Amino acid sequence: MAVAVEREQIHVKKGDTIEIIAGRQRGKRGKVLSILSKHGKIIVEGVNVVKRHSKPTQKLPQGGIIEKEAPIYGSRAMLVCPKCGRAARVGHGYLPDGTKIRICKRCGEQIEK
Ligand SMILES: [Zn+2]
Repeated sequence: MAVAVEREQIHVKKGDTIEIIAGRQRGKRGKVLSILSKHGKIIVEGVNVVKRHSKPTQKLPQGGIIEKEAPIYGSRAMLVCPKCGRAARVGHGYLPDGTKIRICKRCGEQIEK
């Protein structure tokens, strides 16, 4: 494993669909629920779900086991292009009005809705 730990900017956004490209969860896809940019991590729906034993709370009066997504490194995720459906590298471009957009390097389509 020669993964350099560096503080890279996270290249995905909340609401993006991503595919895991490394580690045990490899190949899984899910929607980004939140970005923990300070830690370089993201939380992805259905990915890296861990079971936690919880004490009784008001929400969960009996306590018990709750399943929750644990953060994963953003560098292990690759954006899935909504146009071509493949995990793709992302480039950047600008619309005529100056809006910055992301572009799928596989199909060349813009990723923003
Ligand atoms: Zn594409």
